[in-house]
Amino acid sequence: MPELPEVEFAARRLREWAVGRRIERVEARPEAPLRDIEPSTLKAGLVGRRIQRVRRRGKQLLIDIDGGLVLLSHLGMTGKWVNRPVDAPSPDNARVQLFLDGARRLDYLDTRRLGRIRLLSRDDAARHPEIARLGPDVLEVCKTPAAFAEAVGWSNRAIKVALMDQEVVAGVGNIYAAEALWAARISPFQTASKLSEGDYNRLAVAMTEAMTESLARETDDEIRYIQDRAAPNPFKIYGRTDQPCPACGTLIIRALQQGRSTFYCPVCQPDP
Ligand code: ZN
Repeated sequence: MPELPEVEFAARRLREWAVGRRIERVEARPEAPLRDIEPSTLKAGLVGRRIQRVRRRGKQLLIDIDGGLVLLSHLGMTGKWVNRPVDAPSPDNARVQLFLDGARRLDYLDTRRLGRIRLLSRDDAARHPEIARLGPDVLEVCKTPAAFAEAVGWSNRAIKVALMDQEVVAGVGNIYAAEALWAARISPFQTASKLSEGDYNRLAVAMTEAMTESLARETDDEIRYIQDRAAPNPFKIYGRTDQPCPACGTLIIRALQQGRSTFYCPVCQPDP
């Protein structure tokens, strides 16, 4: 599932592949996860234009197109952008394809189709609720633990729930919330406002490390998500129910928290 590191990876790859390229043709399947736009309007809006810049805000990708447009792409659960030769076979899960000059093609793959693609003016993109309501980018705010504590510590919700709220901090999902809380030895059920300054210091460091480790791991052109068939689990806690905690050997517990799986070590992260 894409969280900040995976979306940052996508932004870096898209910059290499696409910035300065001209879009010559667009294919959008009827089942493409387009929002507020018809496939024909997407094609008419993009063909003939150049990709100028790729930005990331939290888990959102903003692909700036000349003419003042932004292709706003949220990868949902299984979305990914890949770069193929223009005549490569089209995968079944290719939902949108941008044919670029230089005989390359950007395929947007999304098996579960929970991603979201929009084409907006730059002003409308900045004002769009999915962008305008985002909290500070978690990697940025974690550079200053006091700012991170200020962004999160007012909440009376459980810390894991607060962390995953994109309006509190942008970029954290289920995986990195679990990994960082474990490394910082904080229970996911602890109330955010009850954590100490020291807790937030450790959590800021742990979040940064978990995310930068993941980014450093991604060296292939195509990212693999943990849900992909035969993908390895590179995480210490996430998805490791009944396996020993890497720190103390106690078996990892899976619990449900607001309908989502939460993984934690009951010894390293005692319940509040
Ligand atoms: Zn432990």
